[in-house]
Amino acid sequence: MIENKGINNIKSNEEGANHYQLKDVGDGTITSGNHTPYWFESMIQPIAFAPLIEDIETDIVVIGGGIAGLTTAYCLAAQGYKVTLIEDGFIGSGETGRTTAHLTCVLDARYVDLEKTFDLNTARLVAQSHNAAIDWIENIIKTNNIECHFMRVDGFLFSHETDSNENLQDEYKATQRIGLNTQMLNKIPAIHSDQVKWCIKFSNQAQIHMMLYLKGLTDAFNLLGGKIFTETRAEKVSKEGVIANGFNIKAKHVVVATNSPINDWVTMHTKQWPYRSYVIAAKITKEIAQCIMVGHR
Ligand SMILES: Cc1cc2nc3c(=O)[nH]c(=O)nc-3n(C[C@H](O)[C@H](O)[C@H](O)COP(=O)(O)OP(=O)(O)OC[C@H]3O[C@@H](n4cnc5c(N)ncnc54)[C@H](O)[C@@H]3O)c2cc1C
Repeated sequence: MIENKGINNIKSNEEGANHYQLKDVGDGTITSGNHTPYWFESMIQPIAFAPLIEDIETDIVVIGGGIAGLTTAYCLAAQGYKVTLIEDGFIGSGETGRTTAHLTCVLDARYVDLEKTFDLNTARLVAQSHNAAIDWIENIIKTNNIECHFMRVDGFLFSHETDSNENLQDEYKATQRIGLNTQMLNKIPAIHSDQVKWCIKFSNQAQIHMMLYLKGLTDAFNLLGGKIFTETRAEKVSKEGVIANGFNIKAKHVVVATNSPINDWVTMHTKQWPYRSYVIAAKITKEIAQCIMVGHR
C-alpha cells in the first residue's frame, strides 16, 4: 500500500460526453481506507464520471460501483434495459479496489464446514458457482477484449503452524467429495518453511488487475448505453426510485449493491460487524508470482 498523494486528473465519459474535471482530493483518500491500494496507484487516473446534477429517468438504477454493482449493471444493460449506475466515490473505490483480486473457489469458509452446516449438495453448489463465476469473468474479458492481466493460476491452501494437519486433511477430503480439482501436496511450491509442510492445491484458479478489469467492464457497460455518475450519493431509496445528491432518479427497479445495505438498517446491520483484513506486499521472484497463495485465517 502506498500513501495517497492526491489526484488531479481529467476523465472523459465517452458515451455520455461528460468531460469532467476531477477535483483535487488533496491528501484525502479516494478509497474506503487511509492508503491508496496498488490497483489505484498503478492507474493513470481513477475511473470517474460527472456527478448527478439534475433529475433523470431510467429503467433500473444500480447503487454502488464495486464489482457487484458494475457486473449487475453490465448484465442488465446487455439484456436491453436502460441502466444508470451511481457511485458515492469512484468506480472501485469501495472494497473492490482493495481486494487481492484472486478469482477463486477457495473460500473463507471451509467446505468441510459448509457440508456440516448444510449438506454435500449445497457445498458442491457453492464450489460450482464460484468456478462458474471465474469462467464468466474470463468470458467477459475475452468478449470485450479487456486487458487486465487475467491469468489462470493454481491456488494453495495451507494451515497456520498452530492449526492441526488433520483439519487440512479433512478439508481436502471434503473438496474431493464435492468434485473439486484438488491435490494434497507435502510441500508448498516456492515457499520454504520448516513449520508448514502440507497444502491443498486448487487447480485452475485465476487473478486479474482489478482496476483494469473494472475499467474494461465500465467501457463495455457504456457501449451498451449504460450511464454512470460518480461522486453521487444515494440518500433515499423508495418505490419511485432514488434520491441522490438531492436529485430524483425515477426508476422502475433499484439494485442496492453497496456492500452493506443502505436501504435496510435493521435486518442485515444486526448481522454485520466491521473489520479490516490486511495484505502485505513484498518483492518476490517471477516463479513465485505464478502461484496464488491462500492461507488459513
Ligand atoms: C484485503 C482484502 C482482500 C480481499 N481479497 C479478495 C480476493 O482475493 N478475492 C475475492 O473474491 N474477494 C476478496 N475480498 C473481498 C472483496 O473485495 C469484496 O467482497 C468485494 O469487493 C465486494 O464488492 P461489492 O461490489 O459488493 O462492494 P464494494 O466494492 O464495497 O462496492 C460498494 C460501493 O457502493 C458505494 N456506496 C456505498 N454507499 C453508497 C451510497 N449511499 N450511494 C452510492 N454509492 C454508495 C461504495 O462507495 C462502494 O464503492 C477482499 C477484501 C479485502 C478487504
